[in-house]
Amino acid sequence: MKIQTFTFNPFQENTFVAYDESGEAVVIDPGCYDADEKAELVQFIENNRLTVKLLLNTHCHIDHVLGNDFIKSKYNVPFLIHEKELPVLMAVKSYSSNYGFALYREALPDRFLKEGDMVSFGNTHLQVLFLPGHAPGHIGFYHKPTHALLSGDVIFESSIGRTDLPGGDYNTLIQSIRQKVFALPDETIVYPGHGNTTTVGEEKVSNPFCALSITE
Ligand SMILES: [Zn+2]
Repeated sequence: MKIQTFTFNPFQENTFVAYDESGEAVVIDPGCYDADEKAELVQFIENNRLTVKLLLNTHCHIDHVLGNDFIKSKYNVPFLIHEKELPVLMAVKSYSSNYGFALYREALPDRFLKEGDMVSFGNTHLQVLFLPGHAPGHIGFYHKPTHALLSGDVIFESSIGRTDLPGGDYNTLIQSIRQKVFALPDETIVYPGHGNTTTVGEEKVSNPFCALSITE
């Protein structure tokens, strides 16, 4: 599996296209909003002759969902989230204008994902991890063969997701990181929703919020 990262919208949100040698792909957290961002994403998909099979959200804060409607309608694909993110998603249209995204259009999910589910496309299977704390129904997607975790806003290079938004909870987030993310092999590459990639091993020893040396 290969992963292409795009950084979109004023929140500098990371949008991912995961794909494999079969040519099938999934789009994760499309934050594209303006025409240039949408064109950049489409151009990559077309240049690589990819067939988009699914639209996935790790969670449904505004910066991660701005391009949902565009991707869902352009490729006519099922859209999957965790059920506990539905209220988070449905709230976006009530505040999108306040953030300057007056043209935001809501897309609603077709199915719900839960811990332990597998999301499949081409020859690739992604394992769903339930990682609440930053958002109530936050999930991550883990690809075991390449040790890659698409982790949304749970953990960042030397930082963690904020927990002051509705449904957020600090202790729950730390628990998700230590019990689920840190249970993955140290060499696991973490692809976060903002900023650079990092590894589980690196954050285990040096993350100032959740390193295993820190006691609560
Ligand atoms: Zn978020």
